[in-house]
Amino acid sequence: MTELLGAIQPSEGGREIRDPATGEVVGRVAEPTLADLGTAVSIARSAQREWAARSDTARSDVLQRAADAVEASAEALAELLSREQGKPLNGPNARFEAGACAAWLRTTAALELGPEVLVEEEGTHAELHYRPLGVVGAIGPWNWPMMISIWQLAPALRMGNTVVLKPSEYTPLSVLALTHVLNTVLPPGVLQVVPGGRAVGEALTEHPDIAKVMFTGSTATGKAIIRSSADTVKRLTLELGGNDAGIVLPDADIHAVAEDLFWGAFINTGQTCAALKRLYVHEDIYDDVCAALVEVASKMPMGVGLDETNVLGPLQNQAQFDIVSGLVQAAKDAGARILLGGNPVASQPGYFYPTTLVADIDNDNPLVAQEQFGPALPIIKFSTLDEAVEMANGLDVGLGASVWSSDADRAREVAARIEAGTVWINKHGAIDPRIPFGGAKQSGYGLEFGVEGLKQLGTPQVITS
Ligand code: NAD
Repeated sequence: MTELLGAIQPSEGGREIRDPATGEVVGRVAEPTLADLGTAVSIARSAQREWAARSDTARSDVLQRAADAVEASAEALAELLSREQGKPLNGPNARFEAGACAAWLRTTAALELGPEVLVEEEGTHAELHYRPLGVVGAIGPWNWPMMISIWQLAPALRMGNTVVLKPSEYTPLSVLALTHVLNTVLPPGVLQVVPGGRAVGEALTEHPDIAKVMFTGSTATGKAIIRSSADTVKRLTLELGGNDAGIVLPDADIHAVAEDLFWGAFINTGQTCAALKRLYVHEDIYDDVCAALVEVASKMPMGVGLDETNVLGPLQNQAQFDIVSGLVQAAKDAGARILLGGNPVASQPGYFYPTTLVADIDNDNPLVAQEQFGPALPIIKFSTLDEAVEMANGLDVGLGASVWSSDADRAREVAARIEAGTVWINKHGAIDPRIPFGGAKQSGYGLEFGVEGLKQLGTPQVITS
């Protein structure tokens, strides 16, 4: 980890980045100017011609070697990520994220997207190709900073584009370290990072030489990017906020699914876009589901990330801690029943919010209606399926959702009625680099992963004779 920090930190100065679990300084990040962004875009533009001229197989080989490089540095990357983001090494957290970076690179390198013959008949031959777009700007959040950077850059590079990445101002070090590792293999100029905050992000979305913006973050920022990119008619992929519902039908096998329900909601201590954020449970099994979740949740240790025993960590920053505290307080004020947690320890260093389960809560309570993005799950009782589907569809976001039942056909029928980009059955948030992922409604547009994801990083061109 120290070696990686040595390679990415400015020799002097820069902004301090602190560990959200302890408050200790992890490292320093240089604060670039808008002129630095302009230089990076112009380098990326020059590098793009040669990169696009390479064969598709050659680019695929480079991505495979990039995956090897990430694997060779995986432990150092996971440690830095754990200190900067707060997530523990173990559980579905920092080591898992470093492993996912390599897995996404490999799968993206192996995808095939050849020309498609559209019409073949007497007098007409038409083919659809996907050509490189040019320079892609990638803007990411702080919850899965390395993995989401890979989701954005791997298909962009595979398709012959070059990339300028702007990580979240909260988690720049892990992305700089990841990029440093990738750049031991990639040709110069193909992938660059410009850390910085909102102003750098905004300038990237307005820049005339950026052909497409891949954005993952909040819905509010996504709307700002639609506006700021309008004058240059940029292509956009927007992976925005969610407030995923899970519906537990009365025939669900509670003990078989309790642990998956827990991790569906509490992966990365709840700071996950497609985490289960509202759980709707049929009245016949409501008390049993609540009891099973309390039993599982009580056993999951929370603490400093580098301690091998922990599987839950702190919230990443003060603002997120305040959001979660405020929403749980709103639930308490409305008379909801706290089954577990709900009382952060004021004297403890770090942004730790205890694992919290909230029962007997109304569907319009802010803890249900707003994205909490933290370890506090509201559990809402329903009587009829129609009522559950209506509540699940009642918000203006629709990233993921899940249905929990012992009857797969019944679960599929319910899934078809839910307004979300992905509906999982008896699991939640299980993503796969071969399977497209994207949001419905205000959770965004465009798809990532798989061949559909590759298509979004190319400009379609029809050749017809
Ligand atoms: P955010 O929107 O505050 O910030 C995301 C990034 O946008 C940061 O790099 C930030 O510097 C940049 N930014 C801010 N203002 C900008 C502007 N005007 N123009 C360009 N860039 C700008 O989001 P966050 O708090 O970092 O992340 C949490 C949110 O992200 C949650 O809502 C979560 O659901 C969502 N998210 C979605 C997905 C998904 O795949 N759909 C994945 C992870 C997170």
